[in-house]
Amino acid sequence: MKDKMKSLELRQLFFEFFKSKDHIIVPSAPMVVKNDPTLMFTNAGMNQFKDIFLGNRQPVNKRVANSQKCLRVSGKHNDLEEVGHDTYHHTMFEMLGNWSFGDYFKKDAIEWGWELLVKKLGIPEDRLYATIFEGSREDNVPRDDEAYSYWEKCFSKPEGRIIEGSKKDNFWEMGETGPCGPCSEIHVDIRDDEERKKIHGRELVNKGHPQVIEIWNLVFIQYNRKSDGVLEQLPSKHVDTGMGFERLCMVVQGKKSNYETDIFQDIISEISSITGKKYGVNEKWDIALRVIADHLRAVSFSIADGQLPSNNKAGYVIRRILRRAVRYGYTSLGIEEPFMYRLVPVLASVMGNQYPELQSGSAQIAKIIHEEEAAFLKTLGKGLKMIDKMIADLRKEKKNILPGKVAFEMYDTFGFPVDLTQLILKEHDMHLDLQGFDSEMKNQKERSREDASVETADWIILKNNEGTVFTGYEKTEDTVIITKYRKVKVKGKETFQLVFDKTPFYAESGGQSGDTGYISSGNDKIFINDTIKENTLIIHLADKLPADISAEFSAVVDLDKRLMTANNHTATHLIHFALRSVLGNHVEQKGSLVTPDRLRFDFSHFAKMSKEELSRVEEIVNKMVRENHTGKITDGVSIEKARSMGAMALFGEKYGDKVRVVEFGKSLELCGGTHVKATGNIGIVKIVSESAIAAGIRRIEAVTASKAEEYINERLKAVEDIASVLKSTGSITESVEKLLSENSSLRKSVEKYQVQAITDKLKEMVTKASTINHIKFVSGVIEADSADILKNVAYQIRTSSEGIIMVLASENAGKANILVTVTDDLVKGRNVNAVSIIKEISSEINGGGGGQPFLATAGGKNPAGIQNALKKAAAFIEKI
Ligand code: ATP
Ligand code: MG
Repeated sequence: MKDKMKSLELRQLFFEFFKSKDHIIVPSAPMVVKNDPTLMFTNAGMNQFKDIFLGNRQPVNKRVANSQKCLRVSGKHNDLEEVGHDTYHHTMFEMLGNWSFGDYFKKDAIEWGWELLVKKLGIPEDRLYATIFEGSREDNVPRDDEAYSYWEKCFSKPEGRIIEGSKKDNFWEMGETGPCGPCSEIHVDIRDDEERKKIHGRELVNKGHPQVIEIWNLVFIQYNRKSDGVLEQLPSKHVDTGMGFERLCMVVQGKKSNYETDIFQDIISEISSITGKKYGVNEKWDIALRVIADHLRAVSFSIADGQLPSNNKAGYVIRRILRRAVRYGYTSLGIEEPFMYRLVPVLASVMGNQYPELQSGSAQIAKIIHEEEAAFLKTLGKGLKMIDKMIADLRKEKKNILPGKVAFEMYDTFGFPVDLTQLILKEHDMHLDLQGFDSEMKNQKERSREDASVETADWIILKNNEGTVFTGYEKTEDTVIITKYRKVKVKGKETFQLVFDKTPFYAESGGQSGDTGYISSGNDKIFINDTIKENTLIIHLADKLPADISAEFSAVVDLDKRLMTANNHTATHLIHFALRSVLGNHVEQKGSLVTPDRLRFDFSHFAKMSKEELSRVEEIVNKMVRENHTGKITDGVSIEKARSMGAMALFGEKYGDKVRVVEFGKSLELCGGTHVKATGNIGIVKIVSESAIAAGIRRIEAVTASKAEEYINERLKAVEDIASVLKSTGSITESVEKLLSENSSLRKSVEKYQVQAITDKLKEMVTKASTINHIKFVSGVIEADSADILKNVAYQIRTSSEGIIMVLASENAGKANILVTVTDDLVKGRNVNAVSIIKEISSEINGGGGGQPFLATAGGKNPAGIQNALKKAAAFIEKI
């Protein structure tokens, strides 16, 4: 074997090998998927080529190879629970792949796979097994004799080396419907010779043995599955292969676990040096170290791709992965403060070479991880307190089972992990009603499944169409025909998706919302409620189908909305430019939303923007508006060319994509959106807010044109209203200041009168007071606007007298307040304590309080209890 080949060289060797077979090497697509409602994360190398398999896009090259960052934590491929517990499944991993789009097929794919593994990398053939599809009567698909015959030629002793597999392992499908076909996997047996003598490797293939594992899957896409389940032959056949890079490294580097390869070793030793827990000492630590090393990659790569941890969808998946790692650190390694963020630099140095986005983003990634960790650790802290209380309550009730519902609430509402709940209960000889918990979990899953239930019928094809031409840059009306349509039922409501031969409707993408409008033919008019994209397919959403589906339609975009959207879209470019001029070149776009009504622009910057900075941005933008720069738009630019022109953010561009460069004055961006002809159309841009959305990421919201006018007019009107209420003729600020100072001097004089009135009243009460137990007991309800005034006056009287206890109540806005004062002679001589009195009586007003021996207060929600409280106080004093 190629001894000790480093991961970096190995990846390169893979690329070189397929280059020598006339493949083009393309970069990985982003791991966070945009423009595909059916998928949140890339989970296989083929995702970015889905459109080619579906026939919606023509490949630029028929032979392609790459390394794709994948994440398998949701949906069809979910390995999350395995990760850390086994040694060969990751959440995020790299999938090496070679593709043939309608070019070579089974023969070359198999022979080259063999050549690479055996001849180039020197993996001994007696450690290899190949699987082939056994066939399926139900699907009317025969055994894959073809693949078998090629494998037979590869092995010098093929007996017992080629294994037939069922549909589960050897028939690959993209989803319920769509391209699919038989596959052939390559498995490696890395057990020691001793072990290999005991059981033959073929007995362990596809049996979940950690050292007899699949490393490469060769998929032969030759069918399309329709929604009635029937398979039809595809006109052109494709090869899609996927090889786990980490597993390959393990095999080539002679290791028994992916985590022992150089891909993970630096990361694991960094965790060890932070926590003092070494790898290979005990299983509990090892699992935690693996979980953390793995999850660090998943979370960092997602953030680098622009997906922040959040409360829903993809962001929530990322948050959960991060929390899983923090929790393993907490419970298994005893780390109670943020630490994962400290690992980001090591990760960037291990993988930044192949994935430069990790290096350039590393400071930001670390900051975001740090914030998430800190927040979750707080949650954990709070959760632990809650559990302590629940355990104490259970004890009191002499129970030892925590209801599943309670644990589920902790998990669902606070993100408190259920296994931690179980662990803590166990330490107290208690346990969780796991069945109850599971059934709550099941209920929730069902609820969300119902919420998300979508039934999609097959496309009804009226006319073949290789991708819809978007004509909306030039026009907002066009003549179109429907080329295909389908019915989609979302939560029981029927809608229709229509695809045209060409369309003026802009489909939601790049943050810009989709066009609305209608299509009409004769008297028949169908509203288009939204336009969306599924990969490159432009889909129009309608509530019903036209009467004559095959007619020619005039397609009309809602022009007002389109123009308002264009104003906002161009304005985001200007804002981006102005932010970089004012704050610096570290400002990068992190997301945007452009609708007809407003715009939102998210960008990287570490501090809150000052008022001055915001006004400068606004000034620059509005100056660019007034300068009326004409838009210069260049289509079909290669990504390399665009970069050399100085284009900023590149967002999820795929290999082979041509981009569109949009320039307004000095602002230059890659953008597929619709824009104004010249910046003057925007009229005016007004920033309405600036806020933080995550560590190091700020959000600006702004309005333009008539919406900005509305906003400004509303503000002006408020000012005018104030002026007219104030009857102010000069400066409003001066008038308001004058009003405030008048107000404060009035307040002062009112207070003076109140102090006097309360003093008189209290003095009178003191003279009239009864004596209990040789103590003058002054009690009653006093009207006072401010509890502070009452307190001050009572305090004064207390200091200048002897032998008096005062219990004074007041009522304010439905709340009761009680004040108790005790003169010093009683505190010292008779050990009277105002706090004991307050404690004795405050339950009567449904409240609580405290203070010091000479003065205590309480507040409560029940003013009706005041009289009882006073009576209780008298009774208390009798007993002193
Ligand atoms: P397994 O049965 O081991 O989970 P799979 O059948 O899910 O593998 P494929 O979907 O065929 O795997 O993916 C192609 C290749 O990607 C596999 O042969 C394997 O080398 C690698 N792979 C799959 N899942 C993972 C994972 N979670 N972590 C690392 N590598 C993986
Ligand atoms: Mg799997």
